[in-house]
Amino acid sequence: MNSASIQPVAVTDQRASQLLRIEWADGAVSELPHSLLRTHCKCAECVAAQRAGQAVVQGSAITGIEMVGEHALNFKFADGHERGIFPWAYLRELGVA
Ligand SMILES: [Zn+2]
Repeated sequence: MNSASIQPVAVTDQRASQLLRIEWADGAVSELPHSLLRTHCKCAECVAAQRAGQAVVQGSAITGIEMVGEHALNFKFADGHERGIFPWAYLRELGVA
């Protein structure tokens, strides 16, 4: 993975369709459903819940986005969860349209 592939040039939160659209410096575009981001949260709490076989909250819309340094985003979800840190490399890994 070269650095252009994890360098975002534009991030658009399409609330109506609950998609987070990321355009990358290498020309690729990711369109990530909010619910996918919620179920792929890698914070300690969510990872523990997944290991315990607990159902992950479904269909949880993103209600807020903040930058964490220069390399990650932090999402706030409608279910009140706001601890998930998503590095650009991980967001890229989650899918390219
Ligand atoms: Zn989490």
